[in-house]
Amino acid sequence: MDLDLERLERILSPYIVLRRNADIVSVSDALALRTGLSREEIREHLDARCPELDSAGRRYHFMELPGKADGGFECTCTTTSISDTEILAFSENGAPGAGGDAAVVPEALAAMARYSASSCLIVARGVIIHANEAFIELTGYPGPEVIGKQLIGIVSRQSRETFIGACQQGLEDPEGIIPPVDIMLTPLSGKRIFVNMRGGWLRSSGGEYLWMTLNDITDQVILMRRLQEQERRFSDLFDISPIGLLYVDPRGIITSCNAFVGNLMGYDRAEIQGSAFTRFVAPGEEQRLRDEFRDLFEQGREIQQRECVLRTGTGEEVTIQYDVQVISRKRRNVLALMVFSDITGKKKLEMELMEKNAEMEKTLWEMAEVKDALEARAGELNRATEELKVLNERLSQLSITDGLTEIYNHRHFQDRLSEEMERVQRSKDGVLSLLMLDIDDFKRFNDTYGHQCGDMVLKQLAGVLKKCVRSIDILARYGGEEFAVILPNTHAKDAEIVARRICDTIRSTPFSFGTGISVKVTVSIGVGAIGRGQGDKSELVRRADSALYAAKAKWKDRVEVWEED
Ligand code: GH3
Ligand code: MG
Ligand code: MG
Repeated sequence: MDLDLERLERILSPYIVLRRNADIVSVSDALALRTGLSREEIREHLDARCPELDSAGRRYHFMELPGKADGGFECTCTTTSISDTEILAFSENGAPGAGGDAAVVPEALAAMARYSASSCLIVARGVIIHANEAFIELTGYPGPEVIGKQLIGIVSRQSRETFIGACQQGLEDPEGIIPPVDIMLTPLSGKRIFVNMRGGWLRSSGGEYLWMTLNDITDQVILMRRLQEQERRFSDLFDISPIGLLYVDPRGIITSCNAFVGNLMGYDRAEIQGSAFTRFVAPGEEQRLRDEFRDLFEQGREIQQRECVLRTGTGEEVTIQYDVQVISRKRRNVLALMVFSDITGKKKLEMELMEKNAEMEKTLWEMAEVKDALEARAGELNRATEELKVLNERLSQLSITDGLTEIYNHRHFQDRLSEEMERVQRSKDGVLSLLMLDIDDFKRFNDTYGHQCGDMVLKQLAGVLKKCVRSIDILARYGGEEFAVILPNTHAKDAEIVARRICDTIRSTPFSFGTGISVKVTVSIGVGAIGRGQGDKSELVRRADSALYAAKAKWKDRVEVWEED
């Protein structure tokens, strides 16, 4: 802005000093005349007052200027800086209408100001010479006080340049009209007031006036600032948001995007903006995206929780999950907002998890197969063990059984006899009997019917014997056609009864060989018994044997009981 001293005198005050870098560059003639000081003397005086002036701040500063004629005068100084020039505007205190003749306001102008609902001021050479009620109410300055004040002093520091510029334009205008400007006032309350200032220059016989109306636009400005603040916050939020945000128009062109999109895609944001969204989509997905956008804009079909793969500037592929929503339906201004998050990491994890699951499932299958095989093998082993057990039992049975008669064999007889003898020795009244049985004249039988028939008789006879003894008695083939019966815990007398029963039964049993022939067989039985301490098992066998011998020696087919000699 061009600063013209003459104009500044008309706008601000007749007493003006211009300083640049603390050096006085101009002093108005009016000031020099009023003080009677040279430019140099004024500089020295101001230098001395410099700290006060610097701290003057926004408000008026009261100071004294020396006057050669009358010893000095009290004045107000307002400082304003425009680029590198500091303007010091002084006005004499207690001199309303400091502009001299300008103190008299044209009546028509004063009347108009008085009845106007807007704040009105009439200013002459920078000093307020008339203010209406509305202005007093707006600023809070008591009516009489405001008269004589510098107008620039109530304009806030940051609006002063605008104010001076507008006033200068008015001076240049042929009709003296000041263009409307918004400025801020600093009234008494300290509260900021924004006003829209209109005015103009009026020249009359009384002098030159500056008239202005001030409309309070504080609420509007505050609202506008809040709106701007919100817009700024929204724009910050949009920019720094840790999710992808972009606007797409109905042609699928990205109209704007946030920093996240630029960083993720590895492109300059300027390059993304103005490009078709499908340009960044991995091959094969473009058509699906086009169809989705078409359905969204034409049929309003929402896009929610979809996924697609993007190709970044460096050729990498990233997976995003996105939602798209139409946000404006004004004609010619339809846009859709796409919100997305980068789920590449999540996808990768999902894939790894799926692979691990598949591996685990395979392992489980293999384990199940191994388990089945093991179970099958265990089953086979169990069966084999069972079979072996049966075979063993059969074997041990065979080892103690006589092959022809299927009763105990001689060896088992000996084992059992030993056991029973031990039992006799262990118990106090232990007693054991033994029957020794021999078929009578069997040699002759063989000779008559043959050896095979003899074997059949032996077999049948064993069966008859089995029926004649108790289950605890031990029946065995002693050898050839001789049998033995161990009778545990049996006295000789009872054993004799058993022997007789056997003898009688066999005698009365017919033996047949399947050829229709039936023969009679008799047996002789010797009964021996033994008690505790009477000898070992061979003693018992000897006793039974000698009784048998005695039976044979007599008439056979009989029972003899061993008796001590
Ligand atoms: P005794 O009345 O004195 O006993 O006359 P015995 O002929 O029966 O004579 P001994 O007791 O000495 O019997 C032996 C005969 O028994 C010889 C043999 O012919 C017959 N013998 C022995 N063992 C068997 C056998 O396993 N099968 C057949 N068929 N006969 C046998
Ligand atoms: Mg014999
Ligand atoms: Mg015999």
